[in-house]
Amino acid sequence: MTGTTAVRTSAVRRALDGAAPTPYWLDDPARPETAAALAGPTSADLVVVGGGYLGLWTALLAVTREPGRDVLVLEALTCGHAASGRNGGFCEASLTHGLANGLARWPEEMPALLELGRTNLDAIEAAVAEHAIDCDFVRSGALSVATADHQLADLVEEQEAAAEAGQVLELLDRAALRDRVSSPVFRGALLDPDSALVEPARLAWGLRAACLAAGVRIAERTPVHALSGRERSIQLRTTSGVVTARQVVLATNAARPLLRRLRLMTVPVYDYALMTEPLSGQQRAAIGWQGREGISDRTNRFHYFRTTRDGRILWGGYDAIYHFGSRQRAAYEQRDATFETLAENFFTTFPQLEGVQFTHRWGGVIDTCTRFTAFHGTACAGRVAYALGFTGLGVGATRFAAEVALDQLAGLDTPRTRLRMVRERPVPFPPEPVRWAGIRATTWSLAQADRNEGRENLWLRTMDRLGLGFDS
Ligand SMILES: Cc1cc2nc3c(=O)[nH]c(=O)nc-3n(C[C@H](O)[C@H](O)[C@H](O)COP(=O)(O)OP(=O)(O)OC[C@H]3O[C@@H](n4cnc5c(N)ncnc54)[C@H](O)[C@@H]3O)c2cc1C
Repeated sequence: MTGTTAVRTSAVRRALDGAAPTPYWLDDPARPETAAALAGPTSADLVVVGGGYLGLWTALLAVTREPGRDVLVLEALTCGHAASGRNGGFCEASLTHGLANGLARWPEEMPALLELGRTNLDAIEAAVAEHAIDCDFVRSGALSVATADHQLADLVEEQEAAAEAGQVLELLDRAALRDRVSSPVFRGALLDPDSALVEPARLAWGLRAACLAAGVRIAERTPVHALSGRERSIQLRTTSGVVTARQVVLATNAARPLLRRLRLMTVPVYDYALMTEPLSGQQRAAIGWQGREGISDRTNRFHYFRTTRDGRILWGGYDAIYHFGSRQRAAYEQRDATFETLAENFFTTFPQLEGVQFTHRWGGVIDTCTRFTAFHGTACAGRVAYALGFTGLGVGATRFAAEVALDQLAGLDTPRTRLRMVRERPVPFPPEPVRWAGIRATTWSLAQADRNEGRENLWLRTMDRLGLGFDS
């Protein structure tokens, strides 16, 4: 280690000293009291398994569509404790994990998908207002920032492709970008106005409160262990007894799926984030970031970052960690090596902020599928609907998926259920050890491409041709 590197490493460690190992958003006195667990066997017309955004939107929309419907949410721990309560809070209109992914897979559907995505974002904004959810929803726009010269041409190409599909993106050159936020590594950006920021856990808790107010029953600390279909109903086994349902929506995200057929469709990937202390007025002025734009950079191993209502910066992304055998452990939510890399990259991006401390560090699991965007389906003769595979962009897309699940259970033919994106399924991951080796080869190749002006090796080109990938 050189002298300069050692000084740098100790400065990074100092900045992380004392950072609480817990998600910033969940460390909030507004956190609701945990609801009682299920007390014994029961039944409901619609049972929703999982109390993240997908489950809560499903329950809320079910009673909105059909007031008085008997809906029960069964949540293994507490509503919003998982991805929905610990994400970056980028609530984007995109239903396809970004424009490029959508254009590569469903080019003919993109105009419709963009329109449905905008309508979905409008509906989220309207629901936040209607239910008075205090989650700092700001329709701030998102910046996709080039940090290397070879990415500048991509900005122009993407702007043109977006315009053709009916999406207006604004191109910012280095100077225009510097007027919004100043970093020595930023070279230009695309601004997408159809994007909002939210406080993630507050949104989940607000949806939970809206569900309860609308008559939805919620049982927390009630994991469902198994599901079986009978002729006229579905049985869900919990520790407190069997729950009988006419219909079921599975909203379990990265957890081990209750339906065996879904077990190879997603892999759990750990994503990490840091939160700074509130910046002083002087620090804020030094980076010139006075707006509330959500920002991500355009490398394969990308960072995402945003400000909060009290002037902190959330800084996340870069590493996407998969554990052999799709293992998940609470201990994996802390990863010192990743936190140090993240902090180091933060100070490279904003050297003006030297001396700023991080107050929180955490990780969470995303449900990556090979097409990076959720897939939808039914089981048990149409009585069970599910959606999973949101990868790293589910804050907005889960509401759309809830609408799809309810359409499917009602047997409705809608513009949503007619989409090829909704009818098609991704290619499953292979079993171990091939899965682990394939993911290792892909993450290594993505990092190589970042070091090599974006040039992809044979492995990535082959994966692209097969429509396969690994992302966060
Ligand atoms: C660190 C991080 C950052 C992210 N950043 C963003 C972002 O900025 N923008 C964005 O769009 N997306 C982001 N995402 C992804 C986004 O958070 C998710 O796509 C979204 O929250 C998924 O919602 P969900 O309801 O499907 O899943 P979850 O919130 O994971 O909820 C699933 C729930 O199901 C429960 N459950 C599972 N199995 C059972 C069972 N058998 N019985 C009962 N309950 C069960 C779990 O306890 C959990 O509460 C991020 C994710 C992470 C982890």
